[in-house]
Amino acid sequence: MKALMIEGEATCAFHEVPDPKPGPGEVLFAVRHVALCGSDLNTFKGLNPLVALPRIPGHEIGGEIAAVGEGVPAEYAPGHRGIVVPYTSCGTCPSCRRGRVNACQTNRTLGVQQDGGLAEWIVVPYGKIILNDRLAPRHLALVEPLSVGFHAVDRGRVTAEDTVVVLGCGMIGMGAIAGAVHRNARVIAVDVGEAKIDIARRHGAAEAVDAAMGTEAVNARILELTNGEGADVVVEAVGLPATFTQAIDIVAFSGRVVYIGYAKEPVTYKTQFFNLKELDILGSRNATIDDFRAVIDYLEGLETPPDDLITKVFPFAEAEKALPYWVAERANVLKVLIER
Ligand SMILES: [Zn+2]
Ligand SMILES: [Zn+2]
Repeated sequence: MKALMIEGEATCAFHEVPDPKPGPGEVLFAVRHVALCGSDLNTFKGLNPLVALPRIPGHEIGGEIAAVGEGVPAEYAPGHRGIVVPYTSCGTCPSCRRGRVNACQTNRTLGVQQDGGLAEWIVVPYGKIILNDRLAPRHLALVEPLSVGFHAVDRGRVTAEDTVVVLGCGMIGMGAIAGAVHRNARVIAVDVGEAKIDIARRHGAAEAVDAAMGTEAVNARILELTNGEGADVVVEAVGLPATFTQAIDIVAFSGRVVYIGYAKEPVTYKTQFFNLKELDILGSRNATIDDFRAVIDYLEGLETPPDDLITKVFPFAEAEKALPYWVAERANVLKVLIER
């Protein structure tokens, strides 16, 4: 079969690789859609320390069951569509022992620590497929990236009583916005530029603040929108030192701060607010099956299909153009999809 491989910095090409065969308990999954993730982009730019090259990227995967190995339950019959859960868990590390398998110490995400889904087929254990014949095929590939934002909302224990500020309206931030709206919270979205802010509003953000006005003006506006108190929950989905510290400044006393962004540089804090506000400061990694299910529930309930989250679709035969396109159009891309 054909698979796209990232071979080196800014180099990717199709290769012929052996057709995978499902063993006992495994499913041969025909890949129909792969959405590209920031982590794939970082691999392509040579900035992903978790990846050894060459690597088949792609962990946001929708498709259908093509064949099954021995011992796979009947409901996983060929022809049914689904989503791949792209993480692994060891069962023995501290996270796994606590049931927090999404943060497994030795997790091997598809397309990152092992080859991913940008191929014609992929073999996975049947338990890693969430069956869904209701969503449109191309929306299946949106479930994983949105679930990462939904997980951050879950980490922040967001309820309908909360005002949630989401810093960053990329795909992960959009997931956090949608996840908080899905829990009936009031959401204030912050990002630069009107295009992303418009999408955030369409997905239920009650207020939007253009970060182009500068951090001080943004913070003042957030105080204005929260009766001078600050936000109950702040989700940081940018990954810059400035937004890591901003989150601490704009959260209310005894509020919660959730970090999903990866800051590539060290962050310097004045830590007094950690104590003074008695903050819960939380990390968030990947997503749980419950988060996937919450996203599916959200997407199935939308009146307007979530096509506004998809910036551009490349046919599989032109998949090698997708990552260079994203590099060139960085500021304007929410999600790039590959369709087969
Ligand atoms: Zn991803
Ligand atoms: Zn583990």
